[in-house]
Amino acid sequence: MEESERERRRELLSRAAIAADECRKCAIGYERRNNVYGEGDPSSRLMVVGEGPGETEDELGRPFVGRAGQLLDRMLGAIGLPRVYVYICNTVKCRPTAPGLNGPRNRAPEPQEMENCRSFLDEQIEIVAPEVILALGAPAAKSFLGRDFQITKMRGRWYIGPRETPLMVTFHPAYILRQTGGEIEAVKRMVWDDLKAVRTKLDEPPPPLVTLSTSKGDEEEALQSSLFE
Ligand code: SF4
Repeated sequence: MEESERERRRELLSRAAIAADECRKCAIGYERRNNVYGEGDPSSRLMVVGEGPGETEDELGRPFVGRAGQLLDRMLGAIGLPRVYVYICNTVKCRPTAPGLNGPRNRAPEPQEMENCRSFLDEQIEIVAPEVILALGAPAAKSFLGRDFQITKMRGRWYIGPRETPLMVTFHPAYILRQTGGEIEAVKRMVWDDLKAVRTKLDEPPPPLVTLSTSKGDEEEALQSSLFE
C-alpha cells in the first residue's frame, strides 16, 4: 500500500480519536482516566477487537498493554504478525468498572455501552478496511454476532463481519491467563487453532506480510507452548 494512503488513514483515525475523546455518551465516559481509542497500522490486514480497556489501558490510554496485552503480542508474533503490523482496539473506548474492595475493578461492557460506542468501532473498521477481524472474548463476539453467541460452542469458525470482512472469534487473552489445572492445555490448543486459521486466511491470495514457518510436528508444538509461557 502506498505510504500516502497509510497517512490518509492515520489522519482520519486521529480525527476520529479526538471525537471519541470528547464523547460522554455513557457514564463510564465520565469515570475513565483516558479514552482508549485504538492503535496500530492504519492499513493493517488484521484488526483485533477486544471488549474494553482495563486498568492499565485506562492509565496509559493504549489498548492491550497489561498482562493480557503481552500475551496478545506473543500470540500475534506467533502467526508472523508483530503488533506494529496489526490494528488493535476494543468494542468500547472507555474502561467499564464496577465497585471493588480496593477501588474500581474491571467489568465487561454492558450491551448499551457497546451500542453507544459502536459508531466509533464501525468507523475504525471502515477506515482500516482490514481483510480479517479477530474478536477476542464473548463481549466482542456478541457485539458483532448478537447476544446469543456462546464462545465455548461457537468460536473457531468463520463468520461474516462488518464490510463483509471474515471474522474469527477466539478466547480473550485475559481468559487464557485465568485458566488453571487441566483446562489450560485445552484452551491453549483451541486458541492456537484459531490463530492458525487467521494466518491461513491472511495467506490466501494477497501475499503475507511476514512469512510464518510452515514446519510441523515438534517445531509447531514448541511454538505453541512457548507462546503461552
Ligand atoms: S464508551 Fe464509547 S460511547 Fe461510551 S462514553 Fe466512551 S467513547 Fe463514548
